[in-house]
Amino acid sequence: MTNAVAEPPKAPVQEGPVQDASVQEAPAPRERVFDVAPEEDLLYSISADGKRKFMHPIVHEGRFWKIRRSIAYGLFVLFFALPLIRVGGVPAVFLDLETRRFHIFGGTFHPTDNLLLAAFGLGAIVTVFFVGSTFGRGWCGYACPQTVYLEFLFRPIEAFLEGGPLRQRKLNASPWNGRKLAIKAAKWSIWTVVAVLMAATFVAYFVGWGPLVRGLATEPAAFTGALAVTAGLTVLILFDFGWFRDQMCTIACPYGRLQNVMADQDTILVAYDVKRGDPKVKVKDRVAGVPAGDCIACRSCVNACPTGTDIRRGLQPECIGTAQCIDACEEIMIGQGKPIGLIRYTSEREQNGGVRRIWRPRNLAYLVLLTVAWGALAVLVLTRGDALVEIVRGGREPYRLLPGGQVANQQRVRFTNQLPETQTFTIEVLSPKGTSLVVGDSPVVVEPAALVTVNAVTTVPQSVFDDGQIPVRYLVKSDKGFRKEVDFLLLGPYDDSGPDSESH
Ligand code: SF4
Ligand code: SF4
Repeated sequence: MTNAVAEPPKAPVQEGPVQDASVQEAPAPRERVFDVAPEEDLLYSISADGKRKFMHPIVHEGRFWKIRRSIAYGLFVLFFALPLIRVGGVPAVFLDLETRRFHIFGGTFHPTDNLLLAAFGLGAIVTVFFVGSTFGRGWCGYACPQTVYLEFLFRPIEAFLEGGPLRQRKLNASPWNGRKLAIKAAKWSIWTVVAVLMAATFVAYFVGWGPLVRGLATEPAAFTGALAVTAGLTVLILFDFGWFRDQMCTIACPYGRLQNVMADQDTILVAYDVKRGDPKVKVKDRVAGVPAGDCIACRSCVNACPTGTDIRRGLQPECIGTAQCIDACEEIMIGQGKPIGLIRYTSEREQNGGVRRIWRPRNLAYLVLLTVAWGALAVLVLTRGDALVEIVRGGREPYRLLPGGQVANQQRVRFTNQLPETQTFTIEVLSPKGTSLVVGDSPVVVEPAALVTVNAVTTVPQSVFDDGQIPVRYLVKSDKGFRKEVDFLLLGPYDDSGPDSESH
C-alpha cells in the first residue's frame, strides 16, 4: 500500500459538434458524477427517491474498449451484409417463412430436417452454458446486441450531437428551449433512421431485400405485414436504445439471472482487488498520511459503468462484464504510477488467494457436449446428399381391397432437391415381384432447393401379405445422378380371405 500524491488524470469527455458557449464543461468531479443511491441500495438505476436514474458512462478508450469496438463493428457489418450477400443465387442467410425454406450460406434446410434442428438447438444451448460458466458475462459485454448497439451506435450518435456525458446531463436538466429542441429532434431523427434500417434488415432476413423493396414499390398492399413488423420493431428499438437501455440488462433480461446458475468459483469475471485497493483514500487525504490502499476513490470506474455499478462493492448481478471499469481504472493507475490490475479479470477462487482454473470438469463436460453437437451438425450438413426422399402414408384408410385380389396403399412421396439446380426424379419398384406403382405427375420436376410432394398408389397381390404387412423397396433416381433405395411397409389384410372391394 502506498500513499500516492499525484492528481488523477481527468477522465476524457466525448465532444460533439453541437456546442453552446454558455455551457461550460464543469471540471470532472472525482466523486458522485451520478446522483447515487445510498450504499446499501443495490439498484443503481433507481435514485434514492425512486426515480429512474439515467446513465451517461464516461468512455475510456482502453485496451478492452478497443477490442469491444472492433467486435461491435464486425457484428454491425455482419448483420447488415448477410441479407445482401448472395450465395448460390439467394441471400447468404434467408429464412424464407413463406416456402418454409431456410437458406444458410448456400445450404437449404427445411422444417423436416429434424436431426439438423436438434443438433443446432443442443449446440446453441450448451454453448450458452459453456460461455456463461467459463467467461461469465463475456457474451453480455462483448457480443450481445443490446450492449453492442447501445454502446457503439446509439450512444456515439448521442455524444456526437449532445457532447460528452456531463454535457448530456446538463442538457437534460436544462429547461426546454430552441437549442435543446433542435438537438433532441436531430438525435431522435437519426436514431429513427438507424432503427428503421435495423428493423428493415431484420425483416429482410425473412423476406429478402429484393422482394421487400420491389414489393413495397409495386404492390405495397401485399406487404402490409412486413411494413407492420418493420414499424413495430422500429418503435421497440427506439424504446430500448433511446430510453430503456441498461434496464434491459438489469431488470428484463433472463440471461443475467441464469448467470447465477452457470457461474462457479472459477468463472472469469470483472472484480476489484479489495486487499490491494482498500482503504480507499482520496489523493488530498493521502498527503496527511492517512493509511491508504491503491484506490484513490476517484470513482472513475463507477462513472464509466453503463449500468452504474460500483464494482468495488463486490460481485453484483448488475455487472454485465463490459470491462469499462477496468479501462477507467487502468488509466488512473498508470497516471498514479502504479501497476494496473486493481480492477481486472479474475475469478472468485483467485480473489480468495487460490489459483485460477480455466478448465474444470463442469466446463470440460460442456465443451465435450458442444463439440459433439456442432460436430454432428457439421457431419449432417456435409453428408446430406443431393436430395431427400420420404414416403409417408396417404389417404384416410390404411389400404383398399380391389376387385381381382389386389391391395392398394395410398402414399405421399416428398422430394427435396438439395442442389442449386433443377432435378427431375423418377421412382420405380424393386421388390417384391408383381408390385405396381402409379405416381401422379411423373417424372417429378423439383426446382433448386425446393420441396415437392406427389401422390402415389402402390398395388400388390393380396396373397403376398404376411401378418398384414409387406415391405416394398423403391429406387429413386434423378437426371443429376441422384440414386437412392427407399423402403416402405405396405399394409393389407391379415389373411387372404378378406372381403372383396371393402374399404378399411
Ligand atoms: S477502483 Fe480505480 S477507478 Fe475505481 S475509484 Fe478506485 S482508483 Fe478510481
Ligand atoms: S462494473 Fe465494470 S464490467 Fe461490470 S458492467 Fe460496470 S463497467 Fe462493465
